Amino acid sequence: MDNPIIEVENLKVIYNQGKQNEVRSLDGINVKIYPKEYVIIFGPSGCGKSTLLYSMSGLQAPTKGNIIIENKKLSQMTKKEKVTLHQTEIGMVFQAFYLIPSLTILDNICLPRVFLGDSVAERKEAGIKLLHRFEIVEQSDKFPSQLSGGQKQRVSIARSLVNNPQIIFADEPVGNLDSISSENVMKIFKELNERDKKTIVLVTHNPEHLHYADRVIYIKDGKLIKEEVNKEKRPGEALEKAPDVNYDDLSNELKLLMRTFKNLSLQQVGSLLVPFKSDQLMSHILSELTQEQIQTAGAYLKEYLFHNIDLETFQKDLDIDYTKGGASWNKQRVKSFTQRIQKIINIAELITQGKDQEALRILLEYLSQLFKLKLTEENKRLFNSFVGMRIKNKIDRLELEKKLDTPKILGGIGLYKSTAEKISREIEIIMLMKYTN
Ligand code: ADP
Ligand code: MG
Repeated sequence: MDNPIIEVENLKVIYNQGKQNEVRSLDGINVKIYPKEYVIIFGPSGCGKSTLLYSMSGLQAPTKGNIIIENKKLSQMTKKEKVTLHQTEIGMVFQAFYLIPSLTILDNICLPRVFLGDSVAERKEAGIKLLHRFEIVEQSDKFPSQLSGGQKQRVSIARSLVNNPQIIFADEPVGNLDSISSENVMKIFKELNERDKKTIVLVTHNPEHLHYADRVIYIKDGKLIKEEVNKEKRPGEALEKAPDVNYDDLSNELKLLMRTFKNLSLQQVGSLLVPFKSDQLMSHILSELTQEQIQTAGAYLKEYLFHNIDLETFQKDLDIDYTKGGASWNKQRVKSFTQRIQKIINIAELITQGKDQEALRILLEYLSQLFKLKLTEENKRLFNSFVGMRIKNKIDRLELEKKLDTPKILGGIGLYKSTAEKISREIEIIMLMKYTN
């Protein structure tokens, strides 16, 4: 068990060798991957990540060097042995899914088993189990074109698992997905590694995904330039012995907790558990929303601010049930939340366009409603002048807060301190929304 499951020795892949258009796609790569590791291959577009992954899986022949999988040299395998390797030991997941359009979802998943000579019943049983696991069982009789990107990728992961391989190779599996589906799919790979003990080799160019891996291999211009270890799983490599955590004892209690706290994972055992507890406790006491409801909504808000989704989709996503990928809010909350966001964005846009007077008018209306303010005409004039200064970046938040809070006889507006604070914070949020660098 101490041997690497995959070994890459001085791998070179050179296209059009000796010609003018020669490309050194990989230039002397050495990597060892151990059983049950989750390794991410990271680097910019064109650096050779896909070439490395395809070489490891035997889909790309090396120009020089060796690939050894489960102690067997790929170069010494017969074609038949390679086919068997792919049928039994390796599952592949691609960015473009590669589902067969004319087959149903269930048949797509079962396809790899056809070649193993199983009975139809055996195949379907294995396929349906996976459909249940990835919550796509309702899609069973549909065709790929009827599914969303995230669902298609779950289907292709299910297909890669149907023969129960030890190794999963994934090439930019979330490259075509929005940020929420991406997180969902990345969590599936994490689970396959932690729960199913699969060895995962995943290619990405997105730095936000690196924390999922046990080890990150950085590639640049066909060379391995750096390696980062998040969790040491290689035998004899651990400098410091990881704390003894008996996952078996924990798992039942954790499993029960995980039903409620969807973001809770084995990695949080130990020091990471405290920040997690603190976040949960905060949102429990300060808000009627759960952490998941806030986080999912936050992810959709990001999509909305990036203009990836329109207001209607945003509202729908907030309302949809958590189990179906939504944020599980109720309609009333969705309405007041999106109205407020629209107001804030609207005011920020007016300021950006230099329409300060209109911005101030709407802002005053908005704040009066939000904080139940009743300002005299004189105070409205002062308000416009003070907030105008903040909008023009002549004063900062604290100075504005002070002007709102200072008694009238001293030249301020004389609001309650807490109201002054809330208003000035609200204006900072608007200024942040306006800000671009
Ligand atoms: P990545 O997956 O990191 O984006 P690739 O492994 O696809 O990078 O490609 C690495 C380099 O090899 C790129 O410069 C690419 O243009 C080149 N390359 C890939 N496949 C071929 C091919 N079949 N013929 C010629 N050059 C190729
Ligand atoms: Mg690639």
